[in-house]
Amino acid sequence: MGLLTEGSPLSWEETKVHADHVRKHGVIQFINLYKKLRDRQGDVLKWGDEVEYIIVKFDDENKRVTVSLRAQEMLAELNEKELADPQGVKSLWRPEYGAYMIEGTPGRPYGGLLAHFNIVEANMKYRRTEAAALLGPGEYLMSITNFPRLGCPNFTSPPFDPQPETGVSRSLFFPDEAIYPGHPRFKTLTRNIRMRRGEKVAINLPIFKDVNTKIPVDDSHQKESNALPDHVYLDAMGFGMGCCCLQLTFQACNIAEARTLYDQLTPLCPIMLALSAASPAYRGFLTDVDCRWNVISGSVDCRTPGERGLAPLGPGEKFRITKSRYDSIDSYLSPHNEKYNDIPLTYDKDIYKQLRENDIDHPLAQHIAHLFIRDTVSLFSEKVNQNDEEDTDHFENIQSTNWQTMRFKPPPPRSSIGWRVEFRPCEAQLTDFENAAFVCFVVLLTRVILSYQLNFVMPISKVDENMQKAQKRDACKQGKFWWRKDISTGVTPVEASRHCHLGSCDTDQYEEMTINEIINGKEGTFPGLIALIESYLESMDVDADTHCSIQQYLKLIQRRASGKLLTTASYIREFVTTHPLYKKDSVVSEEINYDLLKAAQAIQSGEMPCPKLLGNSIFTKTKESIPEALRKVLTKECPY
Ligand code: ADP
Ligand code: MG
Ligand code: MG
Repeated sequence: MGLLTEGSPLSWEETKVHADHVRKHGVIQFINLYKKLRDRQGDVLKWGDEVEYIIVKFDDENKRVTVSLRAQEMLAELNEKELADPQGVKSLWRPEYGAYMIEGTPGRPYGGLLAHFNIVEANMKYRRTEAAALLGPGEYLMSITNFPRLGCPNFTSPPFDPQPETGVSRSLFFPDEAIYPGHPRFKTLTRNIRMRRGEKVAINLPIFKDVNTKIPVDDSHQKESNALPDHVYLDAMGFGMGCCCLQLTFQACNIAEARTLYDQLTPLCPIMLALSAASPAYRGFLTDVDCRWNVISGSVDCRTPGERGLAPLGPGEKFRITKSRYDSIDSYLSPHNEKYNDIPLTYDKDIYKQLRENDIDHPLAQHIAHLFIRDTVSLFSEKVNQNDEEDTDHFENIQSTNWQTMRFKPPPPRSSIGWRVEFRPCEAQLTDFENAAFVCFVVLLTRVILSYQLNFVMPISKVDENMQKAQKRDACKQGKFWWRKDISTGVTPVEASRHCHLGSCDTDQYEEMTINEIINGKEGTFPGLIALIESYLESMDVDADTHCSIQQYLKLIQRRASGKLLTTASYIREFVTTHPLYKKDSVVSEEINYDLLKAAQAIQSGEMPCPKLLGNSIFTKTKESIPEALRKVLTKECPY
């Protein structure tokens, strides 16, 4: 997303009236865009990461830590440099949902040289240092997925009371002031999602039951009919969208390759979610989940009771809808993967027909018609009337509020950018080293998939099962996930589809494997993703420094998967449950939270070694830029 321009949001009543208008023009805009860009060829690999951070503030005297609502102030300064020199900056900064959050991306996307893997971590460090220069006393920037006491009394600096009667979210816990104030989009979305749903959102996370855990967990169940006993109850968009994540975008050489990447990375989403698990604590309690995914999903679930299947469909409601607009994807995009689309897909039949009549093939038409079952939940008066030949705002309006595990991104109008896919499941890690490791691992996998024409695709219902398994406590060590045994096609995808008709998509193609087996291999069954990457790297020319860094990254992934190292979620759990003040009651108290974040801060800055999370030798040879000499030697970009 570019710098957000200010605008005037319409009220929910006005927005609702325009729902069909936005859909109608959004689809026309997609059709026009598709016609112009379907044959676009020859784009090269470009890619980039997005890391989200929270700003925390330590109060050492009182041993408290809060989130600091200074994002807007900091962004004003951070964006000044970009405005002065849009092409020259090394980082780009954007607002996020929380008034205590910022998002950083590299100034320009990375390219196809292997040497680019060696500048990712340095760029992440640069970003952190750049933003840190604007912090006030006691403040730190942290890429922690969730602030464990988000929504507890006085969790912000300055403190604010929640506004359950008047606030945009009506939350008992999350005040409006914690929502980013610098752009109306965030509060508008919050209000409109609540109003569309007909009540505020409700998320219930199973509590981690320790010997002294009091059930019910607190008194919210007495005030709220939606709060379940034995669960941590959350009631605001901020509990989900106020979490940090790590995302990646790749540019493909053409639309077909983008569709292949979209499909092939889909089965990896739950695996990478489990491996990057980093958020076991919510609203001051340890829960039985390790990841943020279902929390965000529930936090923006705008479906009415009728759409959720809890009541008859109301007036104007067209569909029963099985998932929130934030969830895992529902269908593969490549024609040869159609047979794996085994969950019933809700889609708008008229839109589907219109797309088909405009020469858009079945899976793509279905995908778009599925995204377009959603109503707009944020519309600005300046954007209502558009030129459908030139603009794509209505398309983007629906596209960008379908927050799924993967996103298929068409080229923006009038730009040099090609067809892209975004990989969205990963949780943010504490250190730049870990975030760089996850990023490089996934990008390397895309290269392996394309150069060896691997096939990870499995029935999408199994991916959905895996998504749920991935979030359970300790899933990285204990979970078992559906995985495809024979991933080699040895043939082009088109031929592969023919093979499949001959019966190779039988269910015995898949086996339940641990994350360790998927990453590190299972004797006689699956070579392991690391081995595939290693073999790809052997065939490539790579300079010594980059080789060294990549090896450190792969080692981290390998050891997280094997259980030799803890996931961030397990580390946080262990820290809390072994803290001298922990009362075996699942509570992450003010002081425990303070000590936890102090430790996390010392780990991220490198002041405190943390072998159980990171291992012993984590010194990579990351560099700020690719050495000139290397650029000359490696003039030939890798084919993928
Ligand atoms: P989002 O819509 O997901 O917020 P952003 O605009 O924040 O997307 O950018 C996502 C990522 O895409 C960034 O890491 C950026 O470096 C990267 N990126 C920018 N241009 C390209 C490109 N042409 N191809 C691939 N990635 C790109
Ligand atoms: Mg972004
Ligand atoms: Mg993104």
